Amino acid sequence: MKIGFIGLGNMGAPMAANLIAAGYDLTGFDTLAKPDGVPMAATAAAAANGADVVITMLPNGDILRLVAAEIHAAMPKGAVHLDCSTVDVESARNVAELAEKASLLAVDAPVSGGIGGATNGTLTFMAGGPKDAFAKVSPLLDIMGQKAVHCGDAGSGQAAKICNNMILGVTMIATCEAFVLADKLGLDRQAMFDVVSTSSGYSWTMNAYCPAPGVGPQSPADNDYQPGFAADLMLKDLNLAQMAAIAADADTPMGQHARDLYAQFVEDEDGAGRDFSAMLPRFAARGRT
Ligand code: NAD
Repeated sequence: MKIGFIGLGNMGAPMAANLIAAGYDLTGFDTLAKPDGVPMAATAAAAANGADVVITMLPNGDILRLVAAEIHAAMPKGAVHLDCSTVDVESARNVAELAEKASLLAVDAPVSGGIGGATNGTLTFMAGGPKDAFAKVSPLLDIMGQKAVHCGDAGSGQAAKICNNMILGVTMIATCEAFVLADKLGLDRQAMFDVVSTSSGYSWTMNAYCPAPGVGPQSPADNDYQPGFAADLMLKDLNLAQMAAIAADADTPMGQHARDLYAQFVEDEDGAGRDFSAMLPRFAARGRT
């Protein structure tokens, strides 16, 4: 199988490296990045030319649409465009339509697991698109990740991703503000963790990614809130969730409020470049007003 890989940044480069290490014939293209050990083409079309599967790992939907138009024209009929970027549902569906017109298959398969997951080949993929296309790319997903869920038609992968991350953003904020309330009530943080992590308030953000340093398993809080999963990326996903909610007329007040808080944190405070769990020191430094 011949693979093209467009977008070799923080996530794409280690994902491509894992495919090359598994023996795949892979050609990459990126407008800026030149990762070691990845054979590079001069254009996206050249990387896609003759490829059975072209993977894209790009910053947003606008860039994805531009790149898709270029690579679809170069891909052989029946080839699969596997997009692993996190983009708006609309762009994912548009790219699937473009692919169909070019007699190609498209799968949207955004990931969860971050740079660590990309490096270790332990990402989770949530995929949308035809089942036969998903089956074709499954061996690649198995190398780059540890789990891949087929969620439904085109755009379903992106839909699953933004719903998951909307829960994640809301839950992280709830966990952080509860720690700050506990602090102010004189409750020891370890006691707070021991109770909540084994009670009905438990969650992934408390049990696996605890925002309080020195409590629970190792997490970015123990590394001065270096990301991890940056607050900027959480804001991106919460914005995508609100775009989708508006388009679908879904009432999502908690998602909207989480978006507003992360926007304030990243754009007006010191949240840019910090882990999304740094909401805890942010709340701790404030009172009610
Ligand atoms: P990144 O900015 O490090 O990488 C994107 C790469 O795309 C860059 O190297 C850039 O030069 C390249 N690029 C931009 N425009 C291009 C074009 N027209 N043609 C070719 N290459 C182009 O971003 P990243 O952290 O690797 O994230 C990639 C995607 O994965 C994003 O959609 C992001 O939301 C998603 N994601 C990231 C993480 C994370 O922890 N970093 C986690 C989950 C999902």
